[in-house]
Amino acid sequence: MPAEAPLHVLIAGGGLSGLALAQGLIKDGHTCEIFERDADDTRKIGYYLHMNADGGEALRRCLPEDLFELYAQTSRKTYDRRESVVLNDQLDELSSQPHLGPPNEGDRPHTGVHRRTLRAILRARLGDSFHPGKAITSYQETPDKVTVTLDDGTTADGDVLVGADGIRSAVRRQKLPGTTVIDAGIRGLGVYGRTPLTPGLAAQLPPHLFEGVLIAADRRGSRLLIAVYRPREQAPDAAARIARDVKLELVDDYVMISCSVPPGTVIPPAAQWTDGTPAMLRDAMLAAIEGWHPAARALVRNVDLASIFVIPFGFLEPAPAWEPSRVTLVGDAAHAMLPTLGMGANLALRDAASLLDQLDAASRRETGLVEAIGTYEQGMRDYVYPFMRMTMDHDRQFGGGALEDRGPS
Ligand SMILES: Cc1cc2nc3c(=O)[nH]c(=O)nc-3n(C[C@H](O)[C@H](O)[C@H](O)COP(=O)(O)OP(=O)(O)OC[C@H]3O[C@@H](n4cnc5c(N)ncnc54)[C@H](O)[C@@H]3O)c2cc1C
Repeated sequence: MPAEAPLHVLIAGGGLSGLALAQGLIKDGHTCEIFERDADDTRKIGYYLHMNADGGEALRRCLPEDLFELYAQTSRKTYDRRESVVLNDQLDELSSQPHLGPPNEGDRPHTGVHRRTLRAILRARLGDSFHPGKAITSYQETPDKVTVTLDDGTTADGDVLVGADGIRSAVRRQKLPGTTVIDAGIRGLGVYGRTPLTPGLAAQLPPHLFEGVLIAADRRGSRLLIAVYRPREQAPDAAARIARDVKLELVDDYVMISCSVPPGTVIPPAAQWTDGTPAMLRDAMLAAIEGWHPAARALVRNVDLASIFVIPFGFLEPAPAWEPSRVTLVGDAAHAMLPTLGMGANLALRDAASLLDQLDAASRRETGLVEAIGTYEQGMRDYVYPFMRMTMDHDRQFGGGALEDRGPS
């Protein structure tokens, strides 16, 4: 049903949740403006995203049918195993446990996507609603509207402001000033890269490495995350067939790796990297997995040096419930968590779809606007906060190791 009283929604941040929300608002007959701090899409923010049905169904809700089809078609098919598997340094299985969240079942199950492809699909057709290179610095709220101020000094008005501006959200800083980011550094799985999946490398990999997202660990504390990206159909071909106006880059098959480096390795901040830094990090990763199975070493040795980047991890403690208003939060801005369980993007997309449902109910006058936002926020806290706690526990037991030095919570 078309919106009776269409809303104009301001969105801080053009990441996964902000873009998905924008798509859904336009689909439902509302208008929006997305303000994205980055001027372009070149910042390295990750490669492979594990997807579950929270994320998959949210994309179905938010995207027009053909763009959803394009997402499904450019996703990795399915895992033979429905668990996340922990291996030892010789790549023998140690343990497994179910992935969190429901899997994407149906006639075309999809389990993983290349992040940049997904972002390009989510960016499609947003036209003048998308404002790259514009950061929101603050907002002012009255009973009738919200006004945001941007870093170039200009302002914009809307019915609602959604902070989709990630872990260091400017919107959250003003709305929930008591919430602080807990920095976990780059210990454990903070160094990421992509290894081209050539036929030669594929032949060296034991078959079970293709079965899911795996973490291999040794007794010294070194860890290697392994995720194979092989889409159902190459992105440019799928776009030409399904949505001709969308241009997608070719992404050759790859294995995303994330590997430990030996304690004491000095990693310069991104701005101080030299041409030699990626090779230094590759060699440090190889030193951390000395004596491991040759396939694990081949994955690291053959990493594309240009793809290597480092992410300092951070997370939020669940914030106590707050009074709803015309300003709300989605995704990492509301509940950033460590990436060890592959949940953050799925939950961020789920937020976008849940908020969309509530805004739509308000625009059809089934409920008041602020009440609708409050219903979204309560549902989000109920669903997401347990995962925030589980992620920290999992990280301590199996995962990235980011919290190892922090002791029990
Ligand atoms: C290495 C890594 C691997 C991961 N793997 C997975 C996985 O497999 N599965 C999974 O579900 N999750 C995964 N996650 C988590 C997932 O990436 C995040 O939870 C998800 O990206 C959050 O989406 P978001 O839209 O909330 O924020 P983001 O994607 O962080 O987007 C926020 C956007 O806001 C912009 N911004 C920031 N400040 C401002 C401002 N003031 N004004 C305007 N714009 C602003 C930023 O430039 C950015 O584009 C992973 C995370 C990392 C780091």
